[in-house]
Amino acid sequence: HNHIDHATPAMVRDAINTGDIHPHIPDYQTFDAYSAAGGYDTLKELRRSGDWEDVQQKVLDSGLRGLGGAGFPSGKKWGFVRGNPGPRYLAVNGDEGEPGTFKDRYYLERTPHLFLEGMLIAAWAVEAHRCYVYMRDEYPAVLEILRREIKALEVAALVEPGYVELRRGAGAYICGEESAMIESIEGKRGIPRHRPPYVAQVGLFGKPTLVHNIETLHWVARVCREGPEILSSVEKNGRTGLRSYSVSGRIARPGIYVLPAGSTITDIIEASGGMAEGHVFKAYQPGGPSSGLLPASIDDVPLDFDRLQPLGSFIGSAAVVVLSDQDSAKAAALNMLRFFEDESCGQCTPCRVGCEKAVKLMQADTWDQPLLEELCTAMADASICGLGQAAPNPIRLTMKHFPEEV
Ligand code: SF4
Repeated sequence: HNHIDHATPAMVRDAINTGDIHPHIPDYQTFDAYSAAGGYDTLKELRRSGDWEDVQQKVLDSGLRGLGGAGFPSGKKWGFVRGNPGPRYLAVNGDEGEPGTFKDRYYLERTPHLFLEGMLIAAWAVEAHRCYVYMRDEYPAVLEILRREIKALEVAALVEPGYVELRRGAGAYICGEESAMIESIEGKRGIPRHRPPYVAQVGLFGKPTLVHNIETLHWVARVCREGPEILSSVEKNGRTGLRSYSVSGRIARPGIYVLPAGSTITDIIEASGGMAEGHVFKAYQPGGPSSGLLPASIDDVPLDFDRLQPLGSFIGSAAVVVLSDQDSAKAAALNMLRFFEDESCGQCTPCRVGCEKAVKLMQADTWDQPLLEELCTAMADASICGLGQAAPNPIRLTMKHFPEEV
């Protein structure tokens, strides 16, 4: 780390644009190193003689699902996009803005070519006309790495110059929502679109678009090279596959942990070296602020897709934040709603006004719970996108599991 980590995103941007400082570039696997270890052999082979449906089947067999939040089966998505007449596009969502999530950065700062090869395999599978990589601007080192390595792909003639375009986000959380990201790539204000139509049919520039998260594409490359078993053979608590959990909070060793998808919070805390000294486990955010807070008593539920839904939560991008007896669930929930209030794109009233009202109500010593519940219902039922629909989760879960605090 260097001083750049303590600068605001705007300071970093200015400094990089004026050439004043350069981001600290960590050691990562370059194009040469990746190729020497057999990298891009899979892509070349597929381009030479591959059948896209075989690859789709491999991805389906692996059980890989989108790892940006929505969890849609990746192979199925390819089928939908490919089923629509071209030109088609691939848009990569690297706008990792969910508080507590840092898995994409972790992979890109170490093995960027696993992601790039996965992207080119997916692009080949849907016959994408072009790839757009929408990257969070607050990751200057990642942007520099991608700039260099996309250039290396062009020099090696693996892609035509300009086939892969790197786009910088501008710090809006909502641009991680796929349709808002597409608006932003098109040069417009990033606000979510109404669905249907889905982006697989009408996406970038009105054309069918495959949208994948960085980590998903990292796994696509590995599944194609090592076989679907690397995911499908891992089983735990009735779930198959692996997930990268971004773990932070009151634990001994925060970081990225690749664990079976059936892992519980107990497994995750154990993998992270246990609780930090002097802290007693009290609550956790299972997957970003939209997933709200669960109490320590719910410690045996696999943190995977579907399993958290009946509890009023979900796994999203698997950003786990662990709270202790020294933290207030009420304050954490208020913090989450303040984040949503800041990041609401303002397009629809239930979310724009709802988040603001919720913050006001949650600042009271004692919450007006019936009124908050009424507000939650309006927000969840009538908001256009996931931000407004899920913003009530922290409120409802805190009222349910931490009544003594509110
Ligand atoms: Fe924008 Fe919120 Fe409406 Fe989503 S729910 S479209 S973020 S105002």
